[in-house]
Amino acid sequence: MSGLLDALLFPGERHPRGPDPGPFSYPQAYKAYLRREFRSKCVYCRVPDGIKGYEGFGVDHYLPASRFPGLALAWPNLFYACNVCNTWKSDSVSTAGRFLPNPCDHRMADHLQYRGAEVETHTPHGEWLAELLHLEERKGLREFILSALVGFVKARIELLGDLTAMEDRLETAQSADERSSLEAAIQEATEELERVERQIERLTGEPL
Ligand SMILES: [Zn+2]
Repeated sequence: MSGLLDALLFPGERHPRGPDPGPFSYPQAYKAYLRREFRSKCVYCRVPDGIKGYEGFGVDHYLPASRFPGLALAWPNLFYACNVCNTWKSDSVSTAGRFLPNPCDHRMADHLQYRGAEVETHTPHGEWLAELLHLEERKGLREFILSALVGFVKARIELLGDLTAMEDRLETAQSADERSSLEAAIQEATEELERVERQIERLTGEPL
């Protein structure tokens, strides 16, 4: 189960950014590519867009376009972020004393990490990010996501067990009646499994 929940943690390694899909003439054109690049999750709070919806996300300029117009369309300056993080981050920029961690230039987990719904900061930079984006105050949404995810992951494990047991019984079924009722039950459990797996993918942003 931990593997699936890990999708919502800050990564321990830097994200190797893929090639520039552009050039494009306006930032919004990068959004779908950024979504794919950053696995459908906000790079700053790790909330998946399956929760907030694609329209709840946007293109973040790490160095704000208002202060660095030359970087408004620079692929390495663009990140996938939820609108809440993007709004709180606003036009903040790193100074000589502290920087805002981002997943391409920094190992996010060195600076901050989640423990369940709680955010823990390890450096002044992680502390600044958590404060600026109000991560602690937004833990309610994270609690909701985690508890829903745990429920779906448990349901998936149970369904996979049920399916294996029913498939074993089908192999040794003696009568046509028994076979057809097992086949119907397998069909139903398979459909339920697909539904549960879609929910897990929605909550983690990761394909199963
Ligand atoms: Zn966010």
